[in-house]
Amino acid sequence: TSSARPLLVSKLFQPANLREERDRELGLGLGGRQGESMACKSQRLMLQSGFIHPSNPGCYYLLPVTVRAMEKLVRLIDREMQGIGGQKLDMPSLCAADLWRRSERWDLMGKELFRLQDRHGAEYCLGPTHEEAITELLAAHGTLSYRQLPLLLYQVTRKFRDEPKPRFGLLRGREFYMKDMYSFDTCEEAAHRTYQAVCEAYTRLFARLGLRCVKVQADTGHIGGKLSHEFQIPAEIGEDRLLICGDCGFSANMETIDQGLRYCPECKGGTLSETKGIEVGHTFYLGTKYSYIFSASYNNMQNKPVIAEMGCFGLGITRILAASIEVLSSEDSIRWPALLAPYQICILPPKKGSKADEAGELAQNLFKVLVEAVPSLRGEVVLDDRTHLTIGRRLKDASRLGYPYVIVTGKSALEDLPTFEVCSQNTGETLFLPIEGVVDYI
Ligand code: ATP
Ligand code: MG
Ligand code: MG
Ligand code: MG
Repeated sequence: TSSARPLLVSKLFQPANLREERDRELGLGLGGRQGESMACKSQRLMLQSGFIHPSNPGCYYLLPVTVRAMEKLVRLIDREMQGIGGQKLDMPSLCAADLWRRSERWDLMGKELFRLQDRHGAEYCLGPTHEEAITELLAAHGTLSYRQLPLLLYQVTRKFRDEPKPRFGLLRGREFYMKDMYSFDTCEEAAHRTYQAVCEAYTRLFARLGLRCVKVQADTGHIGGKLSHEFQIPAEIGEDRLLICGDCGFSANMETIDQGLRYCPECKGGTLSETKGIEVGHTFYLGTKYSYIFSASYNNMQNKPVIAEMGCFGLGITRILAASIEVLSSEDSIRWPALLAPYQICILPPKKGSKADEAGELAQNLFKVLVEAVPSLRGEVVLDDRTHLTIGRRLKDASRLGYPYVIVTGKSALEDLPTFEVCSQNTGETLFLPIEGVVDYI
């Protein structure tokens, strides 16, 4: 069956290799498009490798490899959100101006809001976030029962923001994917429990991805509310400045605290150090700000309507992808968190006409044995069939693109005791293993 075949590199819509050749032809070296400012590592690597392609400022085509990584990330997020009771929905991106006027954010958001009119002259914006929409949805469904709370609703959709400075590729786009969750609770105490549960789910998510992420006290900005934290990945390229206490672990975005602070306001003694960070997640306890305006309420035990307590919780999906590449990659080789790598394994058959030519068939066989032994590898294996290129050249490509495992079927596969050369990109380890050994290792 066709599903039992590996994907061929020559067929991947990821024109990295072609592009390198074309760029060399154009005299651009390993750069991307002429005139494009290669502002940061993840942006440069993603462009060079054909993971993304620019359309207009802050907007990118997400090419198939990126979509694979994104779908993996979304599945992990789904698992965490549903693990704490989240239910997934999907809200329209076209949001009526009326809703935004009621919350007063139509004016407050200023130029960041993409505004448009329909054929009747009715005004809309392209949703940059969905507090208004979700609260209105709840209110439109009539009063909830206290038994239905906490209610956690989330979506993964495109968000639109007319950023003053879109830059750094997927790190700051004008159109990007966000996971946004909204919670409804009976009282402040319950809302704090929900808030805590979401923060813990975020912490678990970043731990599973193997990314260092710091939870810092944050400003509530135009979203409003009373309590807020950001999840920040420390990185030089980050646009946020964080203060972290070496003694008690207190950490805050510098936007919230006295800029001149030298000693920790929490434990008083600890010295604060400054780090730059990429904001990948943001949690807000909103209180009744939106539920009051839109009358989102529930019936309590005495059957009396009470305004619900809300929280909202964002994760920057496309930003997390770029941020992981930013912090894990070297200057010329992409590295993904293992759970997000678009493909797990790249098999390299020998060069055509080389001494090891016959090992080519073994590559196909290796693929079959692998997916039979580990069915979850189906769809995760690519075979670099560009056998007009040397193994060395293709190894270099594979290393640049960051497949977690590269398996070479070369001379050693033709010996009496056939072995395959298995390179683990994340550990840098190279082993010669018989076929069963490869299965066990992976
Ligand atoms: P920033 O401070 O970077 O502008 P924000 O505070 O405006 O972000 P939130 O409103 O808190 O963003 O949105 C939730 C999450 O969405 C952010 O934590 C971030 O991960 C992501 N995000 C926000 N703006 C962008 C953008 N322009 N491009 C990509 N991701 C974004
Ligand atoms: Mg912003
Ligand atoms: Mg921010
Ligand atoms: Mg924020």
